[in-house]
Amino acid sequence: MNKYESLLNKNDFTREEIIALLSPTTKDDHELLLEKAGMVRNETIGNNVYFRGLIEYSNICAKNCYYCGIRRGNEKQGRYTMTDQEVLDCAKFAYDEGYGSLVIQAGEVSSKDFTDKIEYLLKEIKKLSNGKLGITLSLGEQTSDVLKKWFEAGGHRYLIRIETSNKDLYARYHPNDELHSYDERLRALNRVKDNGFQTGTGVMIGLPRQNVGHLADDLLFIKKFDVDMVGMGPYIESDDTPMYEDRNILISKKDRFELSLRMVAVLRLMMPDINIAATTAMQTLDPVGREKAIKAGANVIMPNLTPVKYRESYLLYEGKPCLDEEAEKCKGCIMARIKSTGTVVALNEWGDSNHFFKRKNSDK
Ligand code: SAM
Ligand code: SF4
Repeated sequence: MNKYESLLNKNDFTREEIIALLSPTTKDDHELLLEKAGMVRNETIGNNVYFRGLIEYSNICAKNCYYCGIRRGNEKQGRYTMTDQEVLDCAKFAYDEGYGSLVIQAGEVSSKDFTDKIEYLLKEIKKLSNGKLGITLSLGEQTSDVLKKWFEAGGHRYLIRIETSNKDLYARYHPNDELHSYDERLRALNRVKDNGFQTGTGVMIGLPRQNVGHLADDLLFIKKFDVDMVGMGPYIESDDTPMYEDRNILISKKDRFELSLRMVAVLRLMMPDINIAATTAMQTLDPVGREKAIKAGANVIMPNLTPVKYRESYLLYEGKPCLDEEAEKCKGCIMARIKSTGTVVALNEWGDSNHFFKRKNSDK
């Protein structure tokens, strides 16, 4: 057994060990890591994969993150918000098809009109599904009052990516103002946890000037924060953003993709019982990227339910698949693709994070 292989049998790593795992020197070692992570998932939480039907509710955003195609400052981007009926139609579809859960994602808006509307939609979704659809929210930084309202209305998971756990890098990727403060993002993540949500975070991988040391720190941050779920994926440049300027110093898309797979796999070794998503950005860089992420230990997939007419307007980065609506809605097709990874789609289940329940019990 070589040194790399012997590391794979551990579940607690030093920063140096994580860097070593993220930097295999042979293709065989890379493959062994991914395979091991898939096995660890199967042995700890089983080989179920859970669907979250993704609703990209609105591309209106108050923020101006330097990397994001729907940032406020991108004037080329036309803006939309889905109608109530469109949201409820997506929810009904997900419920009828046995998807189990939804994710509602949007730009960050904190007006009362917006937060009341989300509360209303949550209640309506719960009503039409007899309380059976689980709901994850990804709506940016919000106050405790708002989070409390949304939790009571039926949202029970919430994802806020820290984007990078390194404060200096964070400051490079965001405007230097109160709306884009690292400390405030962290406080917002803590508010999510304090309000009872299953709490998720994540980072972008392959950002300009980011190295494997930073990524090892990200994984240690995720572990220390004791999250229940993670959504992370490659950074992909968008030509309508200030960070496009840095496109020539990025590692190749292939390397970003493979590094993202290793991030998923190492995280699975470090936190065997959390939920990890196979993200859209992984699929953008590889047509079977989601399936590869599942093989590497992910257990959540988010088929896109956003009406096709809006998809071109939710372009966070270049090359985002404006997937054929029918293909994404074809449960049979997606299930067959998932099956090819040696896992099974568990329908009609929320697929909550085992880690969340253990965390709650240990708080008692
Ligand atoms: N506005 C909310 C927020 O920022 O938390 C939720 C929606 S935002 C579009 C969801 C995620 O998209 C962000 O957390 C960020 O990681 C990701 N994202 C934005 N631009 C990206 C890019 N160029 N490449 C990869 N991911 C990107
Ligand atoms: Fe807005 Fe989220 Fe994009 Fe930042 S990442 S600009 S908060 S949608």
